[in-house]
Amino acid sequence: MTRKLASGKLVIATHNAGKLREISALLAPYGLECISAGELGLPEPEETGSSFVENALIKARAAAEASGIVALADDSGLSVDALGGRPGVYTADWAERQWFEGEPGRDWYMAMGKVEGMLAEKGPQTPRDAAFHCVLALAWPEGESAVYEGRVGGTLTWPPRGAMGFGYDPVFVPGGFSQTFAEIAPEEKHRISHRADAFAKLVADQFA
Ligand code: IMP
Repeated sequence: MTRKLASGKLVIATHNAGKLREISALLAPYGLECISAGELGLPEPEETGSSFVENALIKARAAAEASGIVALADDSGLSVDALGGRPGVYTADWAERQWFEGEPGRDWYMAMGKVEGMLAEKGPQTPRDAAFHCVLALAWPEGESAVYEGRVGGTLTWPPRGAMGFGYDPVFVPGGFSQTFAEIAPEEKHRISHRADAFAKLVADQFA
C-alpha cells in the first residue's frame, strides 16, 4: 500500500510558476499547503533519467531530501511510435536553440518541424501515432515514494494548427477528436490530457 499524504505542507518540485499554480489549484480541495521548490530556494537537480518515471522521481526525491517535506514532481513529454518513442525525455531539449539574438530560448516550431522531418524521411506510409505522457511522483523525506502515470494517445498532423496551448499542441490530434490540442478549448484539453489522467490516478490512490 502506498503511503498517504496527510494535510499540511507539500513541496511542488518545480521552478515554473505556471505549473505551481495549476498543481496548487488541483490539490486545493485536499487541505494541502503547496509551496514551490523555487520559493524555498532549493537547487534544480539534473534530469539524468532515461524515462519520465526516473526524472520525476529524481526531482521529487531531491526536493524531499533538501526540504524535509513531502514533495511532488512531474515530468512530461511526447513520444512518437515510429521514432521509437522519441523525443521522450528530450521533448523540451528538441526545442532548445543555442543562441538567438543573444538570448537562449526554446523554439517549438523548430521542434515540431524536427519531428515532422524525421517522419517524412521514413516515407508517407509511416504511422503517425503519438502520445503525451505525464508522470507524477511523490517522495517522502523518509524515503517512500509513489508514481502515477498518465497518457493521452493521438496522431500527429502537419502543418501545425491552432493558437491555444503550448509546446507540441498544434501538431497533436487526440484520439476521438479532429482538432489539435491547440484548437481545443483549454477546459476540454485539461479534462482529457495526460496531466488530467495522472492527477486522477493520484487523487484516486491518495484521497479515495
Ligand atoms: P517538462 O515536463 O517540464 O520537462 O516538459 C516537457 C515538455 O513536454 C514540455 O516542455 C512540452 O514541450 C512538452 N509537453 C508536455 N505537456 C505538453 C502538453 O500538454 N502540450 C504540449 N506539449 C507538452
